[in-house]
Amino acid sequence: MSVQVVASKMAEVELKDIGGKDVPAVAPLTPKVEEKPVVKCEPVVSPTTPVISNVAAAVDPTLPTPSPNLMKMPQASAMKRTDPQHNGGEAFISPDGTVTEAPRTVKKQIQFADQKQEFNKRPTKIGRRSLSRSISQSSTDSYSSAASYTDSSDDETSPRDKQQKNSKGSSDFCIKNIKQADFGRREIEIAEQEMPALMALRKRAQGEKPLAGAKIVGCTHITAQTAVLMETLAALGAQCRWAACNIYSTQNEVAAALAEGGFAVFAWKGESEDDFWWCIDRCVNVEGWQPNMILDDGGDLTHWIYKKYPNMFKKIKGIVEESVTGVHRLYQLSKAGKLCVPAMNVNDSVTKQKFDNLYCCRESILDGLKRTTDVMFGGKQVVVCGYGEVGKGCCAALKAMGSIVYVTEIDPICALQACMDGFRLVKLNEVIRQVDIVITCTGNKNVVVREYLDRMKNGCIVCNMGHSNTEIDVASLRTPELTWERVRSQVDHVIWPDGKRIVLLAEGRLLNLSCSTVPTFVLSITATTQALALIELYNAPEGRYKQDVYLLPKKMDEYVASLHLPTFDAHLTELTDEQAKYLGLNKNGPFKPNYYR
Ligand code: NAD
Repeated sequence: MSVQVVASKMAEVELKDIGGKDVPAVAPLTPKVEEKPVVKCEPVVSPTTPVISNVAAAVDPTLPTPSPNLMKMPQASAMKRTDPQHNGGEAFISPDGTVTEAPRTVKKQIQFADQKQEFNKRPTKIGRRSLSRSISQSSTDSYSSAASYTDSSDDETSPRDKQQKNSKGSSDFCIKNIKQADFGRREIEIAEQEMPALMALRKRAQGEKPLAGAKIVGCTHITAQTAVLMETLAALGAQCRWAACNIYSTQNEVAAALAEGGFAVFAWKGESEDDFWWCIDRCVNVEGWQPNMILDDGGDLTHWIYKKYPNMFKKIKGIVEESVTGVHRLYQLSKAGKLCVPAMNVNDSVTKQKFDNLYCCRESILDGLKRTTDVMFGGKQVVVCGYGEVGKGCCAALKAMGSIVYVTEIDPICALQACMDGFRLVKLNEVIRQVDIVITCTGNKNVVVREYLDRMKNGCIVCNMGHSNTEIDVASLRTPELTWERVRSQVDHVIWPDGKRIVLLAEGRLLNLSCSTVPTFVLSITATTQALALIELYNAPEGRYKQDVYLLPKKMDEYVASLHLPTFDAHLTELTDEQAKYLGLNKNGPFKPNYYR
């Protein structure tokens, strides 16, 4: 079924549901041909990503949008935020108490070629028990929503050894404890309040099922936010089978609520690696059921199907991938000519990037610092290394709290932005002796080296907000003359022979994902983008997408943003015909060219 067909079928429902006199005009499905974006390819994400075919450029320009029902601007009155609870994020703590470097997946590179998974060869009970014990120990120290209610469970029986049924008698799931379903339902309901766009999609699709017939196999963090996404996909007509993309991040009670609701979920907090692959396999290796869509976060599910069940790709219509790692793998496959279905790179959609990097960090930098150190920000001198999106968010938050903020930059444009925003641009060595807090967010390596660490004052807090733990030279602190003292989970005092100590957070790993939560509202944007990408790929007519990796069209990005506006009772200005003509735009968007970031 094409998007247009879906669109026309849903039009009535849409108007009935959300409509009323304030409903703005339906976004047209068919932008004029002359409005086709001039850009053929989006800028390459990284030097290693060979081809990025932009949807709008690569496909028929008349059909790049999802249904008009789903593309219409929502009304503020339809979705008011009622409870700004934050309920998300994951701190992924390994059994020894350290945080995993890559937050999304268990392993950065999984070897498949010669890997023979023996599902019957499982860890000994002792092995599993000790893992489970240490995880629950570390999770009590974590503030992740994943470390919630069920962590106190002392039931150490592996879910794989349990026989469980939901209240309808189904046993097509494997989770920690089905009895926790009620607690999980509450978590999901709290998350729903901060995920207005998904709730709007459900409402808009009432009576209409743009994902009817879709059989989606998913591998993502299993949290309350993911549950809201899964239940939305189901409301849109999809059947879902799901595994966790990370062995530590599953909220057991949420998995229970999903299983109780009839979802085939295979996940629990503290899986072994063997469990991890077993769960993925249980999602795809089912009699009488074959997936036709993949939603992946990290690429492990996709690669499992590639290696174990390549024939499944005959029926699979597309892959939607969220993570940097997974997207990178897809581009590698594409470059090697081995990508056999179209894939959507959700990670690099503009809306996701803007919100994840800037606004998420603006909130979570304070959260992460506060939870770990109880520091007072007012009057503190802080240096932020890097004034990109993440740096801008950190600086804005700290400035608002009354901190005196310095910025370091290598790029004169970002440097000038920092100056214009009222920050003192300095070199690190100029302020390193006086600052109370050092934050790195450059995506670079060795930004804070031992020389600087030696010169910091007593009590200086050092942390990193960049993706990897390369920004602070933590290895240089592991020398015999320095003493390490773990004072809290994720907090080390590193002590010099003269008694000076610095406060190192999360061993230089990403602070907010290690030590705080990520706002649900930010996850809502990603989840909505994923849902729209699935709808688009599933409904796309033959030939619209080739075996390549695509970015979401700008119009969809704009639509995701528009679905979140009513939360704020925001009133968007509409272009007049005259203005639209003057700017050369369609009144209903896209309002920016594809290269606009
Ligand atoms: P960005 O490219 O917009 O900004 C990085 C800035 O650092 C650039 O302006 C660059 O010029 C500057 N820089 C590079 N080397 C430097 C150096 N030696 N000294 C000073 N400045 C330097 O990237 P971004 O979107 O701000 O992301 C930054 C990092 O944060 C990346 O690693 C990204 O993956 C990560 N990230 C973290 C989160 C989070 O939740 N913590 C969210 C999104 C992205």
